[in-house]
Amino acid sequence: MSVSDTPRAVDASVISLAHSLPKVSLHCHLIGTISATTLLELAAKHGVVMEGGRNADNLFDHDSYEDLGEFLRVLDVAGSVIRDVDDFHRVTYESLTQGGADHNVLYREIFLSPPGHAHSSYPTMLEGVVAGMRDARADTGIDSRLIVAINRERSAAEGLQLVEEVIANRIDEVVGIGLDYAEVNGPPEKFWKAYRRAAEAGLNRTAHSESGPPENIETILDLLGCSRIDHGYHVVEDPDITARCVAERVPFTCTPVSSDIGRYSGNGDGTHTKIAEMVDAGLCVTIDSDDPPMFGTDPSNDYLVLAKALGYGLDQLTAFTYNAIDAVWLDESDKQSLQTEATRRIAAIVEADTAAIP
Ligand SMILES: [Zn+2]
Repeated sequence: MSVSDTPRAVDASVISLAHSLPKVSLHCHLIGTISATTLLELAAKHGVVMEGGRNADNLFDHDSYEDLGEFLRVLDVAGSVIRDVDDFHRVTYESLTQGGADHNVLYREIFLSPPGHAHSSYPTMLEGVVAGMRDARADTGIDSRLIVAINRERSAAEGLQLVEEVIANRIDEVVGIGLDYAEVNGPPEKFWKAYRRAAEAGLNRTAHSESGPPENIETILDLLGCSRIDHGYHVVEDPDITARCVAERVPFTCTPVSSDIGRYSGNGDGTHTKIAEMVDAGLCVTIDSDDPPMFGTDPSNDYLVLAKALGYGLDQLTAFTYNAIDAVWLDESDKQSLQTEATRRIAAIVEADTAAIP
């Protein structure tokens, strides 16, 4: 199966392929997975009044997200309505079932951003989220872990305090830490102490770098000791850093739709130029959907937009999944099981496609 020169046939087969391919999700924020319906229901439950007559149809106006600040304000509202154990359970369960397993996501490492939930304690969040993870796994088979993310717009001391809280409430489901919100308001080096503490505690580390400069990628790797980069599109602006990341096979968790709207991986025109450059350079690129309902996307759609824009077929799309499996923070036996299941599903897709050809 591959993209051919017959557009009408291509569309149907590529849509089907993008949906049916097994996926491994390494860049998805819990707050950003809440549906408009759930957000409005939780707002009503907690007496939060939505500004400007917002309803399910106009809540997520992704045309306005060229300004990252505007998007982060929507995210703040979402975080403020997810408050008690039941809320965290519901949002987690929905994100892993309708927003995950229904798109053939086999495994997800979820960003949990405690600073975004001002009305909840960290133990409350964990109780609800972990229950949601367990129920989603029982009902659909999707497995998941948690990455606790520091808000880089807050102080370095607050970042360190969050890591201490993660360590004090250590559970197996939390496998690492991340760094999110606007990079321009919090350079990576600001959080070196929090990352050093996480390293001492044996936590895996990653960090967002959506706007650069490219040197921030080396800071994230060398000073923060990260094993992955979230976004990182500007790496291609520096040939030496690109060559290093290719040689070291540093995984980049790219999110085509949200990053195109945000003008990080393209110009908002759906051409995804920087992701194409990253793939062509031989970087270890993985694909995910970041904050799917808020950007009008889902895990299948992020594969689909690249297939359509860049002509990627089965080989490249499955490479994204295998790259993500290489990058997961699971132990070797769980990683091997994930690889085996992905390979089984891909073989079934190829077999069905071959059988369909007369
Ligand atoms: Zn993100």
